[in-house]
Amino acid sequence: MNGYGKFAMKNETGQTKIRLAHRVAYELEVGHELPHDTFVLHSCDVRECVRFDHLFLGNQKMNMHDASQKGRLRFKRECGRKLWASSVLAMRHMVAKQKIPGKELARVFRMSPTNVSAILTGRAWAWVGGPLRPRRKRLGVEEVLNIREFYASGVRSGILRRQFGVGESQILRIIKGEDWPMLGGPRSLPHPLGRPRT
Ligand SMILES: [Zn+2]
Repeated sequence: MNGYGKFAMKNETGQTKIRLAHRVAYELEVGHELPHDTFVLHSCDVRECVRFDHLFLGNQKMNMHDASQKGRLRFKRECGRKLWASSVLAMRHMVAKQKIPGKELARVFRMSPTNVSAILTGRAWAWVGGPLRPRRKRLGVEEVLNIREFYASGVRSGILRRQFGVGESQILRIIKGEDWPMLGGPRSLPHPLGRPRT
């Protein structure tokens, strides 16, 4: 398991499982989970690589053979630091479908959080496509005050999100006063959803 990019992920029953990044990437590409006795191997020798065309299926025997081959040959294809379109796509899918936090991706792929954020929002590598995370928008003073006032008067955050074209987390930070703390306007806590007040 050493040298591979790993994620700690929660399954449906809430248990934490350690998953290998290249295996998750492979499963996302083919659209289903793989049987436990199946290995996803690298044709390159870069263990954190998630390029789909560098991955292939194998069994335990092939895995051992593969490891010994690579140990002997010290073969290393160029794909480590350099980012590939398929890796970008895999990262976007990992976040969208598996809810992996961006900072986890930064750790696993050894990139700065700024670069990961640029990839996820499409500020970088936009042409690759895939699911993008809503970009943080620069709002004006007027808009911030409007958001706070609308929210305080009972407008739901989903509607504000659409009207002002910003993401849910940005709306919440504005109404709680975490963003734009120097600005006035009513501060609120998010409306409790379906939870009776005690
Ligand atoms: Zn590779």
